[in-house]
Amino acid sequence: MLDFLGDLRRTHTCGALRASDAGQTAVLMGWVNRRRDFGNLVFIDVRDRTGITQIVCDKESNPALHAKAGELRNEYVIATVGKVKLREPNTINKNIPTGEVELIAEELRILNEAKQPPFLPSDTVLPNEELRLQYRYIDLRRDAMQRNIELRHKVAIAIRDYLSAQGFFEIETPFMTRSTPEGARDYLVPSRVQPGSFYALPQSPQLFKQILMISGFDRYFQIVRCFRDEDLRADRQPEFTQIDLEMSYPQPERVWEVVEGFLTAGFKAGGYEIKPPFPRMDYDEAIRLYGIDKPDLRLPAFTPVRDCFAPENLETLGVHPGLPVIAIRTPKVGELSRKERDEIKTMFHTKGGAKLFEDFKRLEKSFPDATAKVREKAGAAAADLIVLVTGSTQSGELKSPGVRKVSPQELAIYASAGLLRVALAQKYSGRHGCFQPGDFRFLWVTNFPMFEYDETEQRWNAAHHPFTSPHEQDMDKLESDPAAVRALAYDVVLNGTELGSGSIRIHRQDIQRKIFHALGLTEAEAKSRFGFFLEALEYGTPPHGGIALGLDRIVMILAGADSLREVIPFPKTARAVDLMVDAPTPVSEAQLKELGIQVSKN
Ligand code: ASP
Repeated sequence: MLDFLGDLRRTHTCGALRASDAGQTAVLMGWVNRRRDFGNLVFIDVRDRTGITQIVCDKESNPALHAKAGELRNEYVIATVGKVKLREPNTINKNIPTGEVELIAEELRILNEAKQPPFLPSDTVLPNEELRLQYRYIDLRRDAMQRNIELRHKVAIAIRDYLSAQGFFEIETPFMTRSTPEGARDYLVPSRVQPGSFYALPQSPQLFKQILMISGFDRYFQIVRCFRDEDLRADRQPEFTQIDLEMSYPQPERVWEVVEGFLTAGFKAGGYEIKPPFPRMDYDEAIRLYGIDKPDLRLPAFTPVRDCFAPENLETLGVHPGLPVIAIRTPKVGELSRKERDEIKTMFHTKGGAKLFEDFKRLEKSFPDATAKVREKAGAAAADLIVLVTGSTQSGELKSPGVRKVSPQELAIYASAGLLRVALAQKYSGRHGCFQPGDFRFLWVTNFPMFEYDETEQRWNAAHHPFTSPHEQDMDKLESDPAAVRALAYDVVLNGTELGSGSIRIHRQDIQRKIFHALGLTEAEAKSRFGFFLEALEYGTPPHGGIALGLDRIVMILAGADSLREVIPFPKTARAVDLMVDAPTPVSEAQLKELGIQVSKN
């Protein structure tokens, strides 16, 4: 028999009672976390999101209540009224904040029962993730998930407060809109009243936030859901949350300051002190030093070591005369077995003729002087692992100056070495201790190239998005040398992860047209896709710029979690399925008919 709540009012949460409350009467409500039956005494741990309190049901003083306690099962919802009592010293539970007290139950109401769940919130071994996602409401009751969602809330509020104090307005933008270009596919929503027409869910509020600048709102932000229909890679979500902002008249540094400010506030809410300003690095430099546009600064940069070798050494080794030789140093790896060294080869994905020397020990035997110089130049300690990446003589004649003023072969070396550097660090991170919790290395990567060449489509694409402004000094190269045009675009990177991207935008309609032209969009195409925006630009658009950062990722890092799904209350699987509600699903013929949609059966 279930009881009604009646006029009972909760006086404390389950994590609240302390020794100083002894003697008080308290009313607690929560789930039965555990019931232990010792005959005359039944102990119930009652739980809510704040903690656990031990309830004591004593047969002698209250036989009816004791009998009722016998009916309780895991996850039943109860209310209990009782006296707070200090525990005997030898029964104090130091592991929980309420461990010095217990509640001697005087009344027990069973507010609801629960089926035996497929797993318990208190289980120490995690069930498989599919089950967790299917029964997300049980999973969310687990302490770790409660903490992650609380952290998410705190971080979001801290960021909101910071931005609001800086004069930013949080302004909502539509979810049912036109396609906005962020490089992925749109999720579409069919219109019933205009059959054959579709809204798109926003990949980002990009054009709306720019229009808000045209509308005079000066400083906008939004913690906003964005939708991208991508082929899902391991840890992507089709809907995710961005901290999106835009401001009028900023220099890039002003945007960076705002981001540094809200990240400091957000990290503080997560329990970490970070110290802006973050270092800054040109895209070109990041590629040259780390082979990647999101360098992990916890690990050493490349060391160029060509000059350590005599020319005849390089010839013997089959190294191309015009290409760099790069040493990758991974700290504190220690001795590697033959097998482990061979594994490095499988971790190396050569791009365009890049060549790997994974066995530095062997090189040391053949070229003792040169390798000693390499060790010295790279600052390598005895336990550090060194591998070399260079271009082979088969790399062919150097095409120069190609994209970004370096030959494609040289870029290929940086790219291959960049990936290997990260792979080595991850593989040996257990040994080298470079990845310490709480070690946050932020970085601004700036001056990205404006365009990227798409070999298959044989045309230039916008590296960020087509509303990003080129450098004022590079405007004249838009037609003649697109590869050399730098964008006023920037990324904020943390420990090798891109947290966000942004740019100063194009605010002049003539320049926007030029960019569309450079991207191979005809006037007609540009007009049909972005006509409304091009028109808006004509009505007095101030210079403006902004950025968007992934909230899910930030919280994941702060929580020390290894998947975005750990910090999103109701996430989707890697196949974009919501296992709890079972979405997506087919819909009825009638619904489709109303929308004028026919589903092809193949
Ligand atoms: N809209 C961009 C993005 O979602 C960010 C920006 O340029 O502000 O990546």
